[in-house]
Amino acid sequence: MIPSNIKALILDMDGVIWKADAPIGNLPQIFARIRQRGLKFIFATNNGTKTPEDYQQKLQDLGVSIDPAQVVTSALGLAFMLSQKYPKGTKIFMIGGDGVRIALEEKGFKILSVENASEAQVFVMGIDREINFQKIAEAALLVRAGIPFYTTNTDRTFPTPRGEIPGSGAWVSVIETATGVSPIIAGKPFPYLMELSLERLGTKREETLIVGDRLETDIAAGQSVGCPTALVLSGVSSKAQAEAWIPTPTIIAENLTTLVR
Ligand SMILES: [Mg+2]
Repeated sequence: MIPSNIKALILDMDGVIWKADAPIGNLPQIFARIRQRGLKFIFATNNGTKTPEDYQQKLQDLGVSIDPAQVVTSALGLAFMLSQKYPKGTKIFMIGGDGVRIALEEKGFKILSVENASEAQVFVMGIDREINFQKIAEAALLVRAGIPFYTTNTDRTFPTPRGEIPGSGAWVSVIETATGVSPIIAGKPFPYLMELSLERLGTKREETLIVGDRLETDIAAGQSVGCPTALVLSGVSSKAQAEAWIPTPTIIAENLTTLVR
């Protein structure tokens, strides 16, 4: 199904490779096939809660060996974007997981505790499994005071075997509602993650296929940078939604197995 001019894949993970911890298809076979076809690949995920090393381990446990440099997360995209705008030592209050915290600390930013949140120069929002009212209240106070507001992504939900659970976008909407301010976004559908991936792959846009399960993030991001796109129906978006999307994705496939066949 993959056109012969394609040299590389930029793959989304949730809804393409797995749903929560359940693999979608026979992953060792799928990646053996991708390698056999001589395709380079990189994973680009809006999920900013884990590090590339976490993903390397998760893939290893599912029988697929990769290098951590083959993973680009919205947390890395965000940290890189902020490092171009703010000096090391800038104080950041964040609501988010380890993925975001480590990416920001690696760039030399100082992460504040909720008790010191009022000292923040920048506020960052991701998915925090220990979110609480105090954190939300501090964040709203900062943003209302004019502190710049960033987020990894605005995915409203993400898929689990039991269904969709609130994503970063759901939490961002709480701050937006409380402040009237919208964040600056590092992840898909904004082009930054795609551009970082293309730079690492070293392939041309027209030779690089963007693979994802969500029209408004994966497919929109691919289309925004001028790459061909493939929607897989193993995640969020349906075939009817894909056919109504303008422009239609280049390829619509049942799942990654059928795409790489
Ligand atoms: Mg996805």
